[in-house]
Amino acid sequence: MQNLLDLDLAGLKAWLAQIGEKPFRANQLLRWIYQRGETDFSAMSDLARVFRDRLPMVAEIRLPTIVSDKLSDDGTRKFLMDVGASNLIETVFIPESDRGTLCISTQVGCALDCSFCSTGKQGFNRNLTTAEIIGQLWLANRALGFDPAGERIISNVVIMGMGEPLANFDALVPALNLMLDDHAYGLSRRRVTVSTSGIVPAMDRLREACPTALAVSLHAPNDALRDVLVPINQKYPLTELMAACKRYLDKAPRDFITFEYVMLEGVNDSPAQAKELVALIGKAGFRCKFNLIPFNPFPGSPYRRSPRDRISTFANILIGAGYVTTVRKTRGDDIDAACGQLAGQVQDKTRRTRQLPPIITQPHGSTS
Ligand code: SAH
Ligand code: SF4
Repeated sequence: MQNLLDLDLAGLKAWLAQIGEKPFRANQLLRWIYQRGETDFSAMSDLARVFRDRLPMVAEIRLPTIVSDKLSDDGTRKFLMDVGASNLIETVFIPESDRGTLCISTQVGCALDCSFCSTGKQGFNRNLTTAEIIGQLWLANRALGFDPAGERIISNVVIMGMGEPLANFDALVPALNLMLDDHAYGLSRRRVTVSTSGIVPAMDRLREACPTALAVSLHAPNDALRDVLVPINQKYPLTELMAACKRYLDKAPRDFITFEYVMLEGVNDSPAQAKELVALIGKAGFRCKFNLIPFNPFPGSPYRRSPRDRISTFANILIGAGYVTTVRKTRGDDIDAACGQLAGQVQDKTRRTRQLPPIITQPHGSTS
């Protein structure tokens, strides 16, 4: 049984050809599933009768299950979704005056173990399938709907939830294609942002496969500190990471990289470190912006959030050097929906068995 949510346009056409159906049905199916939110084949009225009757025998539309839906005082909404075998993931909607952003997860847990991240501390279980990634947008879209003017409420997507998206490349790309495809969600390339801790070869592959906006979790101005905070740096150090960022923008010179930088008191937030950051980026030579993220504490974490004045001093040094710099507002605090607090329920396989390599690029446990 093929779960149709696992296939983008090209995948759907190939599957249709394989079962002896006309490839143009793929566009019709995408419009029904993603634009009209229909999951009942019998309601897809412009499909040929014979095809419509055949579909339930060969295909299904299987989504994660929403197990809780919490609304914060500031409008942030957190969905907890069950993807089977007691694995829970989180999807967060963040409304702002000019946009509505959905933050999507790509893995159950994360194997990369950044020292300040709650998801990383829970360990890793498995990659999400394409259906489970795009299913988060499908479900949130249905829950949030349209505004009174008929505009969609979710205008932007950030792949910044649980997991390292570029460690789940093969499932991620079809999901991104569906976000961008005019027959599906039709979001513009710049309104979809993939956030990575810096898996260099996969950044190059993403540029070729689906060059969305890119955010890079930098968090430190030198290798010695980044090795500790973001251990993947030991494999792909800063010189390589900066070169990969530059290559990413080669084909889109008007784009920029967003550098995320979590503010940890006394660890990476001094004025000297801000200057070191300016020197690092200045040498790299490409367009970028900074997004400073006040650390979100979680039980058992050894770090503290930098005080506000320390964050503004740091920001002012970056601004003074000519970089657009924003400080992320902490949203959804009351429902634990802030960055790095996404804490579903992870049956950790990494620590228990220690058999998985740190980066897994093939989807595991595909449901199709
Ligand atoms: N794995 C990807 C995307 C998910 S994390 C990545 O690392 O980029 C999304 C962002 O939240 C990253 O910039 C991450 O470093 C940051 N983050 C993780 N834990 C955090 C915490 N406790 N407080 C603030 N930001 C955190
Ligand atoms: Fe994984 Fe990103 Fe958390 Fe690091 S910050 S452990 S890469 S989710």
